[in-house]
Amino acid sequence: MSVFSHIEFDHHEQVNFFHDEASGLKAIVAVHNSNRGPALGGCRMWNYASDEEALTDALRLSKGMTYKSALANLALGGGKSVIIGNPRQHKTEALLEMMGRCLESMGGRYIAAEDSGTSVPDLKIMNRNTKFVAGITERPGIDGLLSNGDPSPATAYGTFIGLKATVKHRLGTDNLKGLSVAIQGVGNVGYRLAEHLREAGATLYVNDIHQEYVDKAVKQLGAIAVSSQEILTLDVDVLAPCALGAILNDDSIPNIKASVIAGASNNQLAASRHDMMLKERGILYAPDFAINAGGIIDIFYDRVGHTPQKVSQHIETIADTLDEIFRRSDANNLPTGMVANTLAEERFQKR
Ligand code: NAD
Repeated sequence: MSVFSHIEFDHHEQVNFFHDEASGLKAIVAVHNSNRGPALGGCRMWNYASDEEALTDALRLSKGMTYKSALANLALGGGKSVIIGNPRQHKTEALLEMMGRCLESMGGRYIAAEDSGTSVPDLKIMNRNTKFVAGITERPGIDGLLSNGDPSPATAYGTFIGLKATVKHRLGTDNLKGLSVAIQGVGNVGYRLAEHLREAGATLYVNDIHQEYVDKAVKQLGAIAVSSQEILTLDVDVLAPCALGAILNDDSIPNIKASVIAGASNNQLAASRHDMMLKERGILYAPDFAINAGGIIDIFYDRVGHTPQKVSQHIETIADTLDEIFRRSDANNLPTGMVANTLAEERFQKR
C-alpha cells in the first residue's frame, strides 16, 4: 500500500497509523494542512473492505476539511480519522478509550468530531483520555434550544443564508416569497432548511426515502410530496440536495430545470467536470463545501467558547464567501466549484 505516492496524498502533513491488540483498534489519522490551526474533522468508523480503502477515505476527507474550514475563514486546518471496523460489532468502550489515548498522543494537531459510525456518546468516551474531541458539550444552540453538539441546526441555517445569496445573484431578489424549492432529503438538515424556507414564504416540494419524514413536512410545513424521479427534474427555481452525494451527474444535469442549486449534501458533483456542465447549462451552483459550512463553524465555537449570536454572525458570512465566488466566476468565466477551490487555497496556503 503506497502512502507518499498515493493518488490522494496531495501534500498531507502527517498520517498516523494506530494499532492496539487488546482493544482491536485499527485507526488512521490524516492531517492534511494545519496552516490555519489544528486539523479538525470527523472520526468515521466503517467496515472498510481493505486498509487501502480506509487510507483513501482518510486522505480524501481530511483534504476536504482543509478546504471547508479555510473557505469558512476558521482558525482550523483539515484532518480526518477513520477507525477500521463495523460500528455495530466492533465498537467497544475499550476501543473508544484507546482511540482517545491515540488522539491525546498527537498533542492537539488533530481534533475529532462525530461522523458516520460514531456519535456524541462515543466521543464522550474518547474524551475520558483526551481533550482533543469537539462537539460534545451541551449548550444553547443558534436556534435558542439546548444542543447536545448536533451541528445540523447550524448547517441548515448556513444553507438557508447561502441559498438566499445564490438566489439573489441568479434571480436578482432576496425575497423568497413565492419562490419554489425542491428539497431532496428532509432529514436533520433538510427538514430544518424547509422550516426556514417556509417561514420566508417559499413553496416547498419534498422527497425522502423515509415516508414519515415526508409526511411530517407535508403536515407541518405545507410541503408538496413528489416522487424520487420528480424531485431533481421539477420546474422549480431552486434545487436543494440534502440527502446524497454525487447527485449532480451525467444523467441528472441535462434534466434539471432549476436555475439555482443550493443544498447541504456533501460531494454533490459526481466528478469535477460536472461543475462546468452546470455552468454551461446556465445553472448557478453554490459549491457544497462553501454553503454547508455552518456545522463546522458551530463546532469551532463549541471549542473556543461563544455566544449563539457570535456563531450566527459567523455563519452569515457564508453569504459573503458565496458572493465572492459568484463574482469571480462571472469575471473569469469559470465554474463556481473551481473558483471555490482556488479561493480556499488562497486562504490556507501560507502567504
Ligand atoms: P440525515 O441522514 O439526517 O438526512 C438525510 C435524509 O436524506 C434522510 O432523511 C434520508 O432518508 C434521506 N435520503 C437518503 N437517500 C435518499 C434518496 N435517495 N432520496 C431521497 N432522500 C434520501 O443527514 P443530514 O445530517 O441531514 O445531512 C444531509 C446531507 O448534508 C448529507 O450529505 C451530509 O453529509 C450533509 N451535511 C450535513 C451536515 C450536518 O451538520 N448534519 C453538515 C455538513 C454536510
